[in-house]
Amino acid sequence: MSAAANYVKNVVHSLKSTMIGMSITGKYLLRKPITVQYPDERLPIPNRYRGIHYLEQEKCINCLACARACPIDCIEMDAVRHGKELEWVSFTLDYQKCMFCELCVYPCPKDCIHMGTEFAFVSYDRSEFNHDLLSFKGMAREAKVRMIEAEKKKKAKEEAKKAKEAAAAAAKAAAESAESASKSADDAAPADDAEKKEEGGAEG
Ligand code: SF4
Ligand code: SF4
Repeated sequence: MSAAANYVKNVVHSLKSTMIGMSITGKYLLRKPITVQYPDERLPIPNRYRGIHYLEQEKCINCLACARACPIDCIEMDAVRHGKELEWVSFTLDYQKCMFCELCVYPCPKDCIHMGTEFAFVSYDRSEFNHDLLSFKGMAREAKVRMIEAEKKKKAKEEAKKAKEAAAAAAKAAAESAESASKSADDAAPADDAEKKEEGGAEG
């Protein structure tokens, strides 16, 4: 092949390669970008993803079933019971130990502890990984209202019981005094009869 023919062949080959390359570039030029600008943007997370837990505190009954089911004792909780209502102190989950196995979720009788879709948990302080899942400490507002109503009902019931007992005692006392009055009247009647007889004999 002559030098001129070789030159032309190289030019054609270069043009062909450029066209192939530019066609690929052109395809991506028309597509939407797939880069996700984390943390401002996030890819969708599957529903069954096992991320940081969340607790529906209102439903929780402090039964400890989740804590007992955990194979590495990550869950601890503390609450004061007022009758049927709970005053929450803490409900902690130690993410230094948790292996996201989900075994704590299944035994919950109230279906109130779940694996969430949040996964980012960053801190300079390891103690912050012992995470409190409570959204409120103390009692929920509704629980307070329920407790106040229950206390009112209890007080009213006790007062009604006391009034009933007092009425029964008064009735009993009245019956006893009436009985003793009739007995003393009965005792006085034979003495009057004897007096009358004695008076009759003296006149005869
Ligand atoms: S996910 Fe597993 S390790 Fe973590 S708290 Fe629940 S039971 Fe324990
Ligand atoms: S098992 Fe459920 S109801 Fe019982 S303490 Fe755990 S989260 Fe609360």
